[in-house]
Amino acid sequence: MSARDRHQSVSRVYLVGAGPGELDLCTVRGRDLALDCDVLVYDSLVPPELVQQSRATSKLYVGKTRDGHALTQPEINAALVRLACEAPGGRSIVRLKGGDPFLFGRGGEEVRALLEAEIPFEVVPGVTAATAAAASALVPLTDRDFSAGVVIVTGHRRGESSESLPWRHLVGCKMTLVFYMALRQLETITRELIAHGMGAETTALLVQEATLPGQRIVHERLERIAERASEVGLRPPAVLIVGPVAALFDQTGVAVARPLAGCSVLVLRPSERRYLELNRLRDMGARVFDPPIVRSVPSFGDGSLQELRRKVSSADLLVFTSALAVHLFDEWRRHHDALPLVPACWGVRASVRAELERLGFGAPTQAASAEDDVGDLSARVEAARRAGCQRVWILGRGASERRLAAVRAHALDVRSVQLYRQNTLALPNDIVAALSEGRIDLVLFISSSTVEAFGALVDGLERAVVEGLRFVAISEGLAFRVRERLGVDCVAPSASGLDELIELAASTLCGASLDQVKV
Ligand code: SAH
Repeated sequence: MSARDRHQSVSRVYLVGAGPGELDLCTVRGRDLALDCDVLVYDSLVPPELVQQSRATSKLYVGKTRDGHALTQPEINAALVRLACEAPGGRSIVRLKGGDPFLFGRGGEEVRALLEAEIPFEVVPGVTAATAAAASALVPLTDRDFSAGVVIVTGHRRGESSESLPWRHLVGCKMTLVFYMALRQLETITRELIAHGMGAETTALLVQEATLPGQRIVHERLERIAERASEVGLRPPAVLIVGPVAALFDQTGVAVARPLAGCSVLVLRPSERRYLELNRLRDMGARVFDPPIVRSVPSFGDGSLQELRRKVSSADLLVFTSALAVHLFDEWRRHHDALPLVPACWGVRASVRAELERLGFGAPTQAASAEDDVGDLSARVEAARRAGCQRVWILGRGASERRLAAVRAHALDVRSVQLYRQNTLALPNDIVAALSEGRIDLVLFISSSTVEAFGALVDGLERAVVEGLRFVAISEGLAFRVRERLGVDCVAPSASGLDELIELAASTLCGASLDQVKV
């Protein structure tokens, strides 16, 4: 076997640091590996978007569960070794960890297990919580006027209490101290620091969920910080920064330049569509969750192909209700040699007509009014009738009564041809939790298929949760359906389009986001 063959046939493990939680703060290498791996083994503090977007065929969660259960470290080590050994070869296994794998992530223990089992591995560093928190609070950890260095300490030691830390040295070194896992031990930490000679007035900062929408910063004298943390209900993950540099904390908010920092947006989409345009919301600082909520399944099996051919050749006008319907139709047509002649085509929205044009099914000639797709359809059908059209087939997921009636009103024969049906997918647990805990600010609707699926989901949530959300839809027609199905208010941009939707989402969010950034 050549060296190259051997290289390709052996499974590899990558210990990847995912950064502090914000998707963009994972390194490019780390992200690429996580997206393209075969097996993903991950913890709770990694960006959920990365797990969701990963193409891994197997995703193994090894963090703590809600009832406190977790795999032990030896079990995780054994799982990594087993996954690498049992694999058919050449698989890539990504072990995704929060922050940096070698700072309190027990990455060392995993590396030792891999070395022992002679499994090839690589470590990809990540942005650790200390530097992420420092950047968020604008605290230069080693500002040369105040501190010659930084000491990274754990507030919680395996099998020992934090009382056993070398407090005299920590205080005597006169460097910035950053404590991880500090919340539960806060009183002990502050008591020991003061008892070993650190000034009770020394500035301390607690940064909760640095870089994430739940980020909160508490700024206080060392002797009071434990009390303040419990007053404001700070929760993990958080780091404690102690030392004169902490006094440089930016309290003006000037540093928070990204207008949507602290906001979370849920985008509902069918599994076959990804809206990359929405990265603009991410660039503005929002956290965007975009889980697929419906999956389309073509519903014209081989048995009904003849039927479809017969329908298509007998129609005078084909009306498509979605871009997916256009794609499926095109695919179906290209797989059959005796192609039926395709009559005139029309799409119910501008985006569907653009897709028809792109695939060569005739350019739409008529201007659209954007707000009212049924009105547009009616005008198109009337023009067709005057040109001698008698039969109209509506192709898609099954035509709505409103559309069927709009065609019938012109005394034409109309049929609905179902090209696909849609199955509702379950939302990932972390997104359901974010919804029920009120951590989502805005829900975006882009495609009508997702309204019913989301409606079914929120039927299981408390009404107060749904009422606490704000809704924006891409078009007035879709907003109407959201209002009708969910019984909530829903706004739409005056001209329908993704850019317009993003503008409206951003301006809707800006007004309410400012109070969430800091305590
Ligand atoms: N390997 C990780 C640390 C894992 S230990 C790293 O390099 O960051 C877990 C601790 O990290 C938490 O208890 C908390 O103290 C800290 N932490 C992780 N993510 C954090 C975040 N986004 N904000 C604040 N602290 C965080």
